[in-house]
Amino acid sequence: MIYFDKIFMAHKTTNSFPPKTPRKSSPTFLSALAEVARTKLLREKWLLCPNRRIGLQWLDRLARNSQPVVNLRLHTPVSLALELAAPKLNGRQLLPPLGRTVLAARLLKQLGTGYLGTLRPSLALAERLAATLHDLRLAGVEPEDLERGRFEAAAKGRELMELYRAYCAELKNHNLVDDAELFRLAGTELPADVIVLAPADLDLGPLQKLPHTVLPVDEPSASGTSILVAQSPNRDKLEVCPTFDAFSAVGETNEIREVLRRCLANGWPLDEVEILHTDSAVYLPRLFEVTEALGVPVTFAEGVPVSFTRPGRALSAFLAWTRDDYPQTALLAMIRDGLLRHLPGTLAGALRPIPIGFGYDRYLTQLDRHIAVLAQQAKRAATDEDEEPRPHLAETLRRRQHQLEEARAPLAKLLDCARREPLAAAQEFLKTHARSVNELDNFAREVLLERIAELAEWLPDNAIDAREWLLALLAEVRVRGEGPRPGHLFVARWDTGGHSGRAHTFILGLDANRFPPQSRQDPVLLDSERSTLSPTLPTAESRQAEMKLQFERLLARLRGTVTVSFTSRALTDDTEQAAGLKLPVVPVAATAPATAETALSETEWWLWRLCVAGPVAEPDRLVGECFPWLGRGLRAAAQRASDVFTEFDGYVPEAGKTDEVFSAHRLEMMGACPLRYFFQYALRIEPPDELELDPERWLPPVEFGSLLHDVFCRHLRDGVPLETALEQNIARWKETLPPPNEGVFRRDCRRMERALRIFAAEPRAGTPRYFEAEIPPQTVALPDGTALQVRGRIDRVDETPGGLELWDYKTSSTYRYDNKDPFHQGRVLQHALYIAIAQQFYGKPVTRFAYFFPTEKGRGETIEFTRTELAGVPQVLGRLRQLIARGAFCATTDDHDCGICDYRAICRDVAAVAENSERKVRAPVNDVLAPLGELRPPKKS
Ligand code: SF4
Repeated sequence: MIYFDKIFMAHKTTNSFPPKTPRKSSPTFLSALAEVARTKLLREKWLLCPNRRIGLQWLDRLARNSQPVVNLRLHTPVSLALELAAPKLNGRQLLPPLGRTVLAARLLKQLGTGYLGTLRPSLALAERLAATLHDLRLAGVEPEDLERGRFEAAAKGRELMELYRAYCAELKNHNLVDDAELFRLAGTELPADVIVLAPADLDLGPLQKLPHTVLPVDEPSASGTSILVAQSPNRDKLEVCPTFDAFSAVGETNEIREVLRRCLANGWPLDEVEILHTDSAVYLPRLFEVTEALGVPVTFAEGVPVSFTRPGRALSAFLAWTRDDYPQTALLAMIRDGLLRHLPGTLAGALRPIPIGFGYDRYLTQLDRHIAVLAQQAKRAATDEDEEPRPHLAETLRRRQHQLEEARAPLAKLLDCARREPLAAAQEFLKTHARSVNELDNFAREVLLERIAELAEWLPDNAIDAREWLLALLAEVRVRGEGPRPGHLFVARWDTGGHSGRAHTFILGLDANRFPPQSRQDPVLLDSERSTLSPTLPTAESRQAEMKLQFERLLARLRGTVTVSFTSRALTDDTEQAAGLKLPVVPVAATAPATAETALSETEWWLWRLCVAGPVAEPDRLVGECFPWLGRGLRAAAQRASDVFTEFDGYVPEAGKTDEVFSAHRLEMMGACPLRYFFQYALRIEPPDELELDPERWLPPVEFGSLLHDVFCRHLRDGVPLETALEQNIARWKETLPPPNEGVFRRDCRRMERALRIFAAEPRAGTPRYFEAEIPPQTVALPDGTALQVRGRIDRVDETPGGLELWDYKTSSTYRYDNKDPFHQGRVLQHALYIAIAQQFYGKPVTRFAYFFPTEKGRGETIEFTRTELAGVPQVLGRLRQLIARGAFCATTDDHDCGICDYRAICRDVAAVAENSERKVRAPVNDVLAPLGELRPPKKS
């Protein structure tokens, strides 16, 4: 197999000059520019360009074609105006776009309630207003001119005028000039001997009046290469564009992959290819991901989104952490992802079991407590007097203790940083805490710091919500924007691309949802209002027409091959999409690589093999040979699908141990799901020890029950009033487990108070004698002559004249406890086992066993079982013992048992697992499972 990297490494640069691919004629504009550059060789020439990156591409193309670029300087309209106006500025500063937004936000704040003042202040509104004021200024509209405007509401007109006046006054008061004033100051005079050159399609705005030479550009109607010519009724024109092609793909990633496949298939060197796109938010990240994964060198004119760098991701996570009341899971995610400089990823495991939950104040107190507990545990493990000392455990605990001790200072610093005001916190976080590991990260950190410093300078008051601005910054900033480079693909937006002169251009994202781009009406100054104020004020319609012309000009100036593409199916909502423009050729649907040689990766090769090259003989065998683990998985799946109970279903005779001490809980688990028993007691698989907070409840069921058990015990044993015991226990648990919010906490407290009332009203015949009574292992004899060692812990033992009464408190509902099926097919054994072992241990008859349900779920019910009802327990225990002894740990036959099982992530489709198990239990071939079949009679269909 030959993959993308190998082929492209072989011919990734052109290395030939002129390029191997023959070019057609130069674009009109470059020919005109070359002519001026040659004929006015020594004159100072200022070339106006939309931005310097585009200008540099023009100069580069001239130089590559051996044309002189002597005395040719690049200027954007603003930089030219700045140079010309410099002597007249008299110390005044140019107002940058951020300053405009801050000024607009401040004015909006001062506006008070009215028409615009009632709108929710936001960064977006301030940006929108700033853009409107900027348009008005550039169009030469004065504040008083707004009087003649026809506004949808007179109040709006008045307020806009007021805002506009205040804006102009602020400029004066703060010694600032905006672009409009700058253009005015630039005047119409040029230094002697300077020629200004401008392409005909560049919007010069007020600089239009400056003497300049207009350089013609390719216009759509005159170009023989424009595909739009091909759209004209004269279809013969198609012949002049033989290198045009189009394709569609399912999703943007496939679109990008097809571009790379075409490069590969045609042997196009990377630095002869330019990719243009219509949607930065979608295509930039995808292009970055795909090219990174394939190792394809690429430069992005717009740069890489800062969210792809560590400092960008870290700042975003840090802002969310501080905004959401410092959730522990968010900090752990930051640490685990390696985003923090002084808190290494390995620390996440050590911090996870600490019950912090969330809340600024809990971090250090809980950390200190945990460190102290670890120190005690380590000491006990090293010097245990009752049990064998465990040096390895002591060493592990000590290591963890030191790890946390070392993390304390950086964590305290991080918390300090989080408490600062947002901009200062973000700056300190980026400088001190965010991790950078490569050049891109360093760039990102510097750019973010620069932008934050700029805002800090413009924001002495709170005109803008700094957090909102920081989040917007993270979404908008891109780093390391570069022009075309040898050996690299070049990616640009369609409206700034097509200047590199590369022989092959792809234009992606021409689906109807994205193209033609829709220009929206300005919500602050509507189009109808704009047209009454000045014909030069842009409207949605004029902008739309401008974009259409821009696209036509792009196509007109492109040379070489042009391939356009669109996404035929949006993966986000699974809808069909059509191309947004009429294409002169039928687009090819790009799915899999057409040949093995154009596969970009191993996955693509398989795509080609399975989709294009026809069916594969014995695919499972081949997969198994190439990927042994997958082969093992396929064998396991086949075994599970058969009727035979196999090792892949939980048949592990080696794990069949019955000489251990059993608790009722353990045997009940075996009765409910032998596979779960196997995971927990044979394999000892533990779920990660992580504190996960449920936003809907404070205490998880187990902790809720244990709090109430302790209250009942202390009340009956120590005489502590119920309310006092509850109050104390709640306070203690609140320290350990923080409630997600006050509402949830109050609701759980009320549930406990009601449980207390139910408990207090319970009639009691006997005298409570033992509480949380531990019963050491007792022998329970079974019908086949074998026995089990069973221990227990009984919530309460009451003494009556006739004997003992056993009580167990349940905070669940009563559904598992039914006198008609007292063992619930082996799932409920506690009652019978406790009667058996309590009688042996206390040497007194047990007259009663009762479950008491003090919560609302259990409706305060008491469910009792008589000895007669429980007489069948030896048979049930015998069957469970047989299953354990045989190592027959098959999954439950009823997925209701899977409700809160810790191993759902292993079993996944629990309904399918239970169904499979039911089939195996009933299959005559599996007599090893007969005891389970006896416990669970076939379900009635
Ligand atoms: S998820 Fe269900 S089948 Fe799987 S171990 Fe748990 S209870 Fe058994």
